[in-house]
Amino acid sequence: MGGAEQLSGGDVAIVGCGPVGALLANLLGQAGLSVDVYDREAGIHALPRAVHFDGEVMRIFQSAGLAEDIATISRTSAKGMHFIDAAGRTLMIRRGIEGPGPQGWAGNWYFHQPSLEEILRAGLSRFPNVRLHLGHEVRSVDELAARYVVGCDGARSLVRRTIGSRPHDLGLHQPWLVVDLLCDPRSPRVQALPEYTVQFCDPARPMTIVNVGGRRRRWEIMLMPGDEPEHLIEPDLFWPMMARWLTPQDAVVERSAVYTFHSLVQEGWRKGRLLLAGDACHQTPPFLGQGMCAGMRDAANLAWKLAAVVEGSAPEALLDSYESERRPHAAAFIELAVKLGAVIQATDPALVAERDRRFAQGPETFDFPQPQLGPGFRMEAPPPVGTIFPQPRLADGRLMDDVIGQRFAIVGEPSLLASERPDAVHLPGVGSDWLAARGIRAALLRPDRYIFAVA
Ligand SMILES: Cc1cc2nc3c(=O)[nH]c(=O)nc-3n(C[C@H](O)[C@H](O)[C@H](O)COP(=O)(O)OP(=O)(O)OC[C@H]3O[C@@H](n4cnc5c(N)ncnc54)[C@H](O)[C@@H]3O)c2cc1C
Repeated sequence: MGGAEQLSGGDVAIVGCGPVGALLANLLGQAGLSVDVYDREAGIHALPRAVHFDGEVMRIFQSAGLAEDIATISRTSAKGMHFIDAAGRTLMIRRGIEGPGPQGWAGNWYFHQPSLEEILRAGLSRFPNVRLHLGHEVRSVDELAARYVVGCDGARSLVRRTIGSRPHDLGLHQPWLVVDLLCDPRSPRVQALPEYTVQFCDPARPMTIVNVGGRRRRWEIMLMPGDEPEHLIEPDLFWPMMARWLTPQDAVVERSAVYTFHSLVQEGWRKGRLLLAGDACHQTPPFLGQGMCAGMRDAANLAWKLAAVVEGSAPEALLDSYESERRPHAAAFIELAVKLGAVIQATDPALVAERDRRFAQGPETFDFPQPQLGPGFRMEAPPPVGTIFPQPRLADGRLMDDVIGQRFAIVGEPSLLASERPDAVHLPGVGSDWLAARGIRAALLRPDRYIFAVA
């Protein structure tokens, strides 16, 4: 934005309309806040990055009223992710989930990031109180007169620099080539590609292969010493690396780009009226498909808190619980992604031999972590307090969150829920098996469905 003009005197200005800024704007728009969103680009970022999100993120899209639209552009798969060595031996499996999982949705979704961002942006047009300003670069947060400014401005965040956050480096920084292909479905080689995600742990050339959906397949290829990033994006150089699976007769290249994968968590997500969300405050290597997911969880955690503070129903100090809750949660995923990166990216013969010994007895299986939120706005109690409550279907067939909306809720034994409280939705008997299995009689859920307290 040029000049010293002051813009946006609304409740919240969001800098950056990537997936995280767009989702946050939808959630705040739904809460009735006056929101201005700025993005320096006129269109959606053309280079696709994320290809996977999980069931919890689909549940957040549901709360924004966008799950059905997003389901139409996404593919589900229960096949998980397989770590396979050069000899074809399976080392590890990240399990998939058959059918609707605990979140009320399939556990794994594969998609084309620009298509997802289109739906998130289109969703904003539902709210006259949300204004999207494209082609507007924010050069200084002083230009924004809004009560709160949220930097969803990605890895090189201006808002983060203004806050002066301190980076904690988790040690993984590695360039990879990313190639998106549009495959010919008639090709036998395409038909033979596995449905699950492959982490090909070949010390000669580690790779990731993802079935993105439709004709689209993603290859991620680690750069090796001597590779020149500017040359490696040439099809003549990368096709031979993929020859074990496909040839140029099987697919056309949609695009190729080199990214450096990072593992970082920032300390300092809030300073006064300035806040951060998404890649602006953490970067996750993509080996778990969880970087954007962490940003979506930030948006869900922050949206109801901002709404409560702006409406005056909570003190401003509630916003300090945002970083203390979210930072350790995001870090748990990043730490696991770094550990998986060490398995996939191993090229040193001694490390590869050690890895092979570790998996000699057969594959290890694992699931996505489900960490407890850090200390913040929750009772100091062990899990399941501070973890997300599952989303069952009610007796009338509706999903639980559709009934709750953006409010607190109490679930549990009908006798305990006898006296109505006007500030929380009462759902007697909902989730009773889950509660009983944990010896819990009732639970208080926050608007982001994390458990605040149990009886
Ligand atoms: C190869 C690769 C694969 C990945 N795979 C996955 C995956 O499968 N699953 C997953 O969950 N995550 C994945 N990720 C991570 C995911 O892509 C990012 O976490 C996600 O895009 C971050 O979203 P964001 O909105 O925080 O930031 P961004 O997407 O970077 O958006 C930031 C926006 O801010 C705008 N902006 C920046 N500065 C300004 C300014 N000063 N003024 C105005 N606008 C500004 C930019 O134009 C941009 O639109 C992957 C990443 C890579 C590189």
